Amino acid sequence: MITSRAWNGKRYVVLGLARSGAAVLNALMESGARVVAWDSDATRVADVKAHFGAQDDPAGEGMNFLHSGARLEIVDPMGLDLSAFDALVVSPGVPLNTHPLAAKARDAGVAVIGDIELFAQSRAELRPHKVVGITGTNGKSTTTALVHHILQTAGVPSLMGGNIGLPILEQEPLPEGGVYVLELSSYQIDLTQTLDCDVAVLLNVTPDHLDRYSDFQAYADSKARLFAMQSPEHEAVIAIGDAASAQIARGLSARGEHLTKIAPGVCMDQSRWPSLQGPHNAQNALAAISVCQALGVSEADIDRGLQSFKGLPHRMEQVGVVNGVAYVDDSKATNPESTAPALAAFSRVHWIVGGRAKGDDLDACRPAFGHVVRAYTIGEAGPVFAAVLEGDMPVERAGTLAEAVNSAAWQAKAGDTVLLSPAAASFDQFRDYEHRGQAFKDAVGALQCKTGQ
Ligand code: ADP
Repeated sequence: MITSRAWNGKRYVVLGLARSGAAVLNALMESGARVVAWDSDATRVADVKAHFGAQDDPAGEGMNFLHSGARLEIVDPMGLDLSAFDALVVSPGVPLNTHPLAAKARDAGVAVIGDIELFAQSRAELRPHKVVGITGTNGKSTTTALVHHILQTAGVPSLMGGNIGLPILEQEPLPEGGVYVLELSSYQIDLTQTLDCDVAVLLNVTPDHLDRYSDFQAYADSKARLFAMQSPEHEAVIAIGDAASAQIARGLSARGEHLTKIAPGVCMDQSRWPSLQGPHNAQNALAAISVCQALGVSEADIDRGLQSFKGLPHRMEQVGVVNGVAYVDDSKATNPESTAPALAAFSRVHWIVGGRAKGDDLDACRPAFGHVVRAYTIGEAGPVFAAVLEGDMPVERAGTLAEAVNSAAWQAKAGDTVLLSPAAASFDQFRDYEHRGQAFKDAVGALQCKTGQ
């Protein structure tokens, strides 16, 4: 666990007690802070009470309980005077733009922070180390996992945190010379004020999450803050394939040699990197190479890491081959910009598309439409997407994922690829993108059983 003397005796409200919130609470308590913790989900509250052995406060007033000299209270903070607190710590899932407690904290002049800011505050007490922060609309997890893998291959102690893996404060601090590789969503950056990354990376900025921002510029500004927090002599790596990222790079041009720009469409031989296929992975690989070079990893170790990287589940993951047809799970592609490179990576695609749409068009995928043999629309966005695609390609209104897989298996010829790359969120028919990817794998498994392959 990561703790800090800086939190001793300070007062915090922790809102949201899922995994990262629970880790925040544990780290603050361990460090001697006084905490009010809350979650609107009663089961999470019950878990925390059980963990700390909470008792109902006999004085009543709906306030529960007592731990280590009454340092922990579990109560809805909406009724409290927040000006008495040092910070409100929220999970990235709490919408800052609409949540009443965030507004109340702002009115009271109380900082609204997340676990990454607490990590930043603890850094002075960690053994000498480096921090890599990776953001972008798409490709963050892949690039974070790739940097971590290359470092491990090179024998450099490292761990992944932020939007990936275990909550950062729950992890054991690294030995001297370690590298903390953080995947940072814009929500996490919004909750961070003092993270000075030794290497900061921006992969791309395309429209997404616009329900949480006043407009696209506000979303792009959030990404730009990762660099604003950096000391100018630290390294910035920016892929300049879109206008917003290029503008952020222009804003940093004074950094001179500490700014590495990755131009779009660079041709590279990716044939020795089986899990890094497609133009988007060329960009992710270039970003990871730049990061590792900045950290002083040798070219030979970088090369070995790129070759042995296994990829992440649900990102262009080949889950089976049946009758010579490859089945690829790209369930994590939840917007058209992330689906486009997956379509471009294969020559004859049976494309399963749809879910809960983030917009009405699939324009970002249009340049790769020529790769699609047939589309199979599913989910809530199915009818809209079918109407968009008809005229450009044969379209089957499959409705469900199982129906789409069966139908594609029937239509596809040896050498074709059946690709689940939905360009939409999963919540209409599935719990999350992992659940959707698993359903795809199960359907492919059933095909394999049927054909004995
Ligand atoms: P994130 O963590 O940012 O959501 P992932 O690495 O999980 O990104 O990839 C999500 C999806 O985005 C994948 O399914 C892949 O098809 C696509 N993708 C990955 N890297 C890029 C990139 N650099 N540009 C565009 N799309 C990408």
